[in-house]
Amino acid sequence: MADGRFAPSPTGDLHLGSLRTALAAWLFSRANSGRFLIRMEDLDEGRVREHHYTGQLEDLRALGLDWDGDPVRQSERIGLYDAALQQLADAGLVYECWCTRAEIRVAPSAPHGDLPEGAYPGTCRDLSNGERTARRASARPPALRLRAGEAAVGFEDMLRGPVSGRVDDFILRRGDGVIAYQLAVVVDDAEQKIDLVVRGTDLLDSTPRQILLARLLGHERSTSFAHVPLVLGPDGTRLAKRHGAVTLADRAERPEIVLSMLAASLGLADPGEPVTTDQLLERFDPNRLPAEPWVLQA
Ligand code: GLU
Repeated sequence: MADGRFAPSPTGDLHLGSLRTALAAWLFSRANSGRFLIRMEDLDEGRVREHHYTGQLEDLRALGLDWDGDPVRQSERIGLYDAALQQLADAGLVYECWCTRAEIRVAPSAPHGDLPEGAYPGTCRDLSNGERTARRASARPPALRLRAGEAAVGFEDMLRGPVSGRVDDFILRRGDGVIAYQLAVVVDDAEQKIDLVVRGTDLLDSTPRQILLARLLGHERSTSFAHVPLVLGPDGTRLAKRHGAVTLADRAERPEIVLSMLAASLGLADPGEPVTTDQLLERFDPNRLPAEPWVLQA
């Protein structure tokens, strides 16, 4: 079985990179008769806009993708995340952190080279009770971090082969009270019984963190991962608004043409060949997916 999901943040129109990841995730699941779920990652309320929930779903539908059940909103599931946080805290795995981003940037980095970029150096990990009390009295509300112990985690990516990394003490809940992406994803993927996560390679660093967290929370399910190469603009940088026509709405072509273009980029169609999602399902073979980023020509 390959029950999968696509988990966009409703903070803007989906660009071609996200649409391509959605198509790949849909193909991985549906080609194996799996369920396919949509989950709106909308915890960062400041950036979320109501019309993007519907706009993103319309774009996915226009490409010919479908999904099971109603899309879920993380903002309606806070109780689940709070419970998981409490479970970790009860196990002594959570600590308060008052560091600012600037402080983390200038702090000496941790000894292990294979920690993710921007890894937390552990400044607040072992504060004395006195230091903690002083910070609580004087400073802004703390973020909550996982005591990860620089655990080494390895996994087999379906597209990239073996991946390994050490896990830093990443944030579980931000200082402003917002549950962090890593915690929400792990709770949701377990609760929604997802066993195949397909997403962009930009999240590769997150995967060891999420595997560790799932283990610490006692989730037994073993999840497979496939990280799809990113889409780059003609200048070789990650696709962004400034590259011009990068969403379905701002491309002049019909959605079928965009589907054909995405399919070709995934090695599943010839350039310009009209295709349907049913045809793509028949052709789908993870081994045909290109390992290199797709450079979108202007
Ligand atoms: N919300 C994330 C994004 O839009 C994806 C999270 C995931 O697939 O785990 O990039």
